[in-house]
Amino acid sequence: MLTKVAENIYRKTVPLPNNPLRDINAYIITGEKNLLIDTGFNRPECEEALQSAFEELGIQETDLFITHLHSDHCGLIGKFARENSTIYAGETDGELINFETGNLYWRMLDDLFIKYGFPKATFGRNTDIHPGRKYCQDTRVNFTYVQEGDVLHYGGYSLQAVETPGHTPGHMCLYDAEKKLLFCGDHILGTITPNICIELSTENPLQDYLASLQKVEKLDVQTLLTAHGTPVENMYARIQELYRHHQERLAEVQRILGSEWKTAYTVARDMTWEIDCKNWEEFPAPQKWFATGEAISHLQYLYGSGKVSRMERNGVYHYQNSDTM
Ligand SMILES: [Zn+2]
Repeated sequence: MLTKVAENIYRKTVPLPNNPLRDINAYIITGEKNLLIDTGFNRPECEEALQSAFEELGIQETDLFITHLHSDHCGLIGKFARENSTIYAGETDGELINFETGNLYWRMLDDLFIKYGFPKATFGRNTDIHPGRKYCQDTRVNFTYVQEGDVLHYGGYSLQAVETPGHTPGHMCLYDAEKKLLFCGDHILGTITPNICIELSTENPLQDYLASLQKVEKLDVQTLLTAHGTPVENMYARIQELYRHHQERLAEVQRILGSEWKTAYTVARDMTWEIDCKNWEEFPAPQKWFATGEAISHLQYLYGSGKVSRMERNGVYHYQNSDTM
């Protein structure tokens, strides 16, 4: 569905087949030059949906802005960028997107998860089943990097880049102060809580994320344009819910740890998840991965704030509540 959400701004719902997220909101700003914000996975269903929006709007060429490195946001860069297109992203995630096109990134990510207790795969690498790997942008991209405060002019908007690390290390939003409008990628979502997962180049993503929520909370926003789900009417109320969610999660993780040394993988197994599975064994492999990533973020946050201790045993991190030592 193509919906006009503001003057010269259109939202296209791009399906993400067989993915719990169901779809992604790509935004198209029309004008003398056009700007596409996020793309969908590198798969034909996404390409067709986006192509139909371009045809409906009569667009031949566009510049692109990528909010972050996840493949559902950047998978189709290669299909929609033309020779003259400028492709913007933050430097950290831009570099990681290009790194993702090779094997080393996935090997390092797999090793990182194994370090946090994720079982070694019996079929090769864990990341072989990762949707981010299957549907990623597959060739190197010549990005134009934006930094905090850089301003892009499209469709009568002055869009300021706002660095919002957390969901990914180089996540970037675009803000128009006069129009009180924020393209927030996956930084804030309405129907689901953004997944805060460990990544290369960050050790405490939840701390980054909470700081980025505080940063965005200071902006004057009336229109929040999220990358997934239904619109968020009140950004400030939603941010409060997200703070509460993570406080509850942190408390849950400490409860699960009890007085034992546990790995992030073991903690993830005992956390509550909103997923249609009877038990942990039934979780599809990619969901086990995201759940473990979420457990790692919360454990690392607790470790960073001294509430939890960490030790390495046989090359794997184990955590324990500090006050039980
Ligand atoms: Zn994402």
